[in-house]
Amino acid sequence: MTPEKIKNIIAPCGLCCETCFAHVEGDIRHLAVKLKEKLGNFHINAKRFETLLGDPVFKKYGQFKAMLDYFSSEHCAGCRKEQCKIFPDCGVRPCTQQKNLDFCWQCDEFPCDKTQFDPVLVKGWILMNEKIRDIGIEAYAKKARTRLRY
Ligand code: SF4
Ligand code: SF4
Repeated sequence: MTPEKIKNIIAPCGLCCETCFAHVEGDIRHLAVKLKEKLGNFHINAKRFETLLGDPVFKKYGQFKAMLDYFSSEHCAGCRKEQCKIFPDCGVRPCTQQKNLDFCWQCDEFPCDKTQFDPVLVKGWILMNEKIRDIGIEAYAKKARTRLRY
């Protein structure tokens, strides 16, 4: 993978945009689109299956479909292209852009207090950037792309 492609996948904070549910090119969205296609007009038959199989779980199909519709719609092109949808107050993106840095570990101020992250995310941000610094972005990206995000 080229360094440019890696940068499009890994945000400056270290999070992997590709494994995010909101990413337009992520597996979660692609698989949700595929499942939605395969299910077709299942919602019309859900009531029928509830009676035929006597299973009340089919009552929840509407809720499931709403979630599937949500996952399959386009939300975010990734941190390098637009401000994060999940953490709209993220201070890392504008700051690294201003400083012309790819990742926070490259910054003299790292770890700073400008992220606007909560304590859990700050911990992850520090760990992720230390990891990128220690093992290199190629090895980091390889692991981050296959690691479960949720
Ligand atoms: S920028 Fe944020 S919302 Fe967008 S794909 Fe990356 S982690 Fe997800
Ligand atoms: S000041 Fe903080 S947020 Fe900005 S690039 Fe440096 S470490 Fe990242």
